[in-house]
Amino acid sequence: MRQILLGAPAAGKGSQARLLAEKLGVPHISSGDLLRAAAKADTPEGKALGETMKRGDLVSDDVVVKLIQDRTAQPDCAKGFILDGFPRTADQANTLDRMLVDTKQNLDVVLNLEVPEDEIVRRMSGRRVCSGCSATFHVVNMPPVVADKCDHCGSPLITRADDTEEAIVKRLSTYRQQTQPLIEYYREKKLLRTVDGREGVEKTFEAICRLLGIEA
Ligand code: AMP
Repeated sequence: MRQILLGAPAAGKGSQARLLAEKLGVPHISSGDLLRAAAKADTPEGKALGETMKRGDLVSDDVVVKLIQDRTAQPDCAKGFILDGFPRTADQANTLDRMLVDTKQNLDVVLNLEVPEDEIVRRMSGRRVCSGCSATFHVVNMPPVVADKCDHCGSPLITRADDTEEAIVKRLSTYRQQTQPLIEYYREKKLLRTVDGREGVEKTFEAICRLLGIEA
């Protein structure tokens, strides 16, 4: 099963992708996680990447495409993968199409998580992420059992460097301009399924499972 999760930042793509990956036994590939790992490199390229992300800008296609190409070529992706955060532009979607044709693979479904913008801003402002396993929490909606510690791996929770007010405005505007048009792109390809992402993680996951015809 090869799937893409589309949606605004903080729409819940990461949480749903993680649950789906577990359920379907395929890897969850988050372009943001791959880039955050690459940005930790103590090199000029790593530093530049970190700066771009902190501002809320998209990184260049060649950098993200190379990371996705390398990751999807790993043996654990042979039976499929869940893409979260990629593609984010029309060029990236075209590149992905070519990659899939070259490797004789196809996409099964593109899930679009719909969440109104005021809710997105609220979620981004209160988001905390695990510094160890990247699980997400929210100070009000989904607080951890022990304050500032991840429920899954116990690592400290942090605020993402790009969850600042300025970067949030930038990321939302980039989403509207560059990523939202992909909804139409995949609708025309008859791959798009839209899910109401306003509910909590569990209810949204149940809705996705119903839509895909799998048990939650
Ligand atoms: P995310 O964790 O998906 O919210 O991504 C965090 C940041 O990583 C984004 O704001 C971008 O700076 C960068 N990023 C993630 N995915 C992509 C992509 N497909 N293309 C370009 N930049 C990306």
